[in-house]
Amino acid sequence: MTRPEQPDVVIVGGGIAGASAACKLTAGGVSVVLLEKQDAYRDLVRGEWLAPWGIREAQRLGVDDCFSAGGAWEIREWMTWDEAVTEDEVEAVDMTRFIPGIGGPMSFPHHAVCELMAEQAVAGGARLVMDAARIGVVPGERPVVTYRTPEGEHELRPRLVIGATGRGCTVGRQIGVTMRNSMHHWGGGMMVEGMDGWPPDVQAMGTEGDVMFMVFPQGYGRARLYLNFPTVNKHRYRGPGGVERFLAAYELKCLPDRGKAVTEATPAGPLSVWPSVSSVPEGPPLTEGVVLIGDEAGNADTVLGTGLSCAMRDSRTVCDILLDSADWSPSAFAPYVEERGSRLERLDFGASIISRLHVEFGPAAVERRRRVRRLMARNFAAQVTGLLNMVAPEDVPEFGFSEFFAERLFRETA
Ligand SMILES: Cc1cc2nc3c(=O)[nH]c(=O)nc-3n(C[C@H](O)[C@H](O)[C@H](O)COP(=O)(O)OP(=O)(O)OC[C@H]3O[C@@H](n4cnc5c(N)ncnc54)[C@H](O)[C@@H]3O)c2cc1C
Repeated sequence: MTRPEQPDVVIVGGGIAGASAACKLTAGGVSVVLLEKQDAYRDLVRGEWLAPWGIREAQRLGVDDCFSAGGAWEIREWMTWDEAVTEDEVEAVDMTRFIPGIGGPMSFPHHAVCELMAEQAVAGGARLVMDAARIGVVPGERPVVTYRTPEGEHELRPRLVIGATGRGCTVGRQIGVTMRNSMHHWGGGMMVEGMDGWPPDVQAMGTEGDVMFMVFPQGYGRARLYLNFPTVNKHRYRGPGGVERFLAAYELKCLPDRGKAVTEATPAGPLSVWPSVSSVPEGPPLTEGVVLIGDEAGNADTVLGTGLSCAMRDSRTVCDILLDSADWSPSAFAPYVEERGSRLERLDFGASIISRLHVEFGPAAVERRRRVRRLMARNFAAQVTGLLNMVAPEDVPEFGFSEFFAERLFRETA
């Protein structure tokens, strides 16, 4: 068992949340050990679309250069190609103007950016441990972290542990944080290349038949594809031929050229399929000596595309508290717990509206999307949920999170 010099903070999980926190803390003079279970950063199929408000969070954390160096690509327009939208109604939404001075959302290779963040943290003085397995965390005034590497068993006794292991909740489970989980549908994602026929700065989403698709270009003919589909068909893209079935699902009447630019693309990474789960913690995501950030502290359904922005908001908020005060007791994190709780409540509500609207299938769902579209064209206020993945949740008008709003939106089909 090795017991090296003790760091101020041990961060468990070197994803966007953990690695960005390591960068911010080391820049502020805090000593950090960052434990990551992978032996090298690989494509795990995570989020790769960063909202404008998330870009602002990255800037505040001082990690925005990792995105540009990692190949971030600005997306400027959003097309909704959908069976409920006629060709005349299709209209490009300019995504560059939601937050002045920021520009459009970014699409980027997730694992490359995490690796660059980890490198930036190391350059700032952090110790990065890859291939860290069997992490044990015992909370307390002086928490204990144990882990194993190929070199042997190790133990650390920092002042604070930050749990950032994502949905696996390795740290959260050990400190007794439980989640209320709900699932609306399933999703799948894959990277492709050779999409030269696709407009390079245009993202698209839409629903046809029983799939809801998303396309996020990453430049140079590459794009991240996501599909959402009903839980009853959860095995549809599994097993032999899954990749081919996944690409073939983009042969859709609503897409230009019936989706040829996508169906003829070449797979350039693993196909991953997952239950699209929203997890809300049943208590505060912390205890004495341990605080959780990112997906480990709870997340809204991925359909909303805000998990990365949230991970960096968490990271920034927690790091600011640590850098501003010598008090690292649980009560010092009360502003974080409160802000995060109301943020997740709003995002969860927004995600449930998006899921109901875009990831339900059949004639009644098509009619609902048509009706809501007409309502939105008549009344701008009905578009409020659409703001939620562009600007920060606190900047969206409160009525967009009311039952009144949801009832108005869905009243004819309730
Ligand atoms: C398929 C999919 C699509 C998504 N699309 C979007 C999107 O377009 N936009 C968006 O904003 N969000 C999206 N999200 C959500 C977004 O990816 C997450 O919210 C974000 O990655 C959370 O970051 P994190 O660092 O908290 O967790 P993770 O990204 O899960 O990172 C956790 C890290 O911890 C490591 N780890 C795990 N367990 C251990 C352990 N026991 N010990 C040590 N290390 C460990 C992992 O290897 C990983 O590096 C998507 C999520 C999924 C699954």
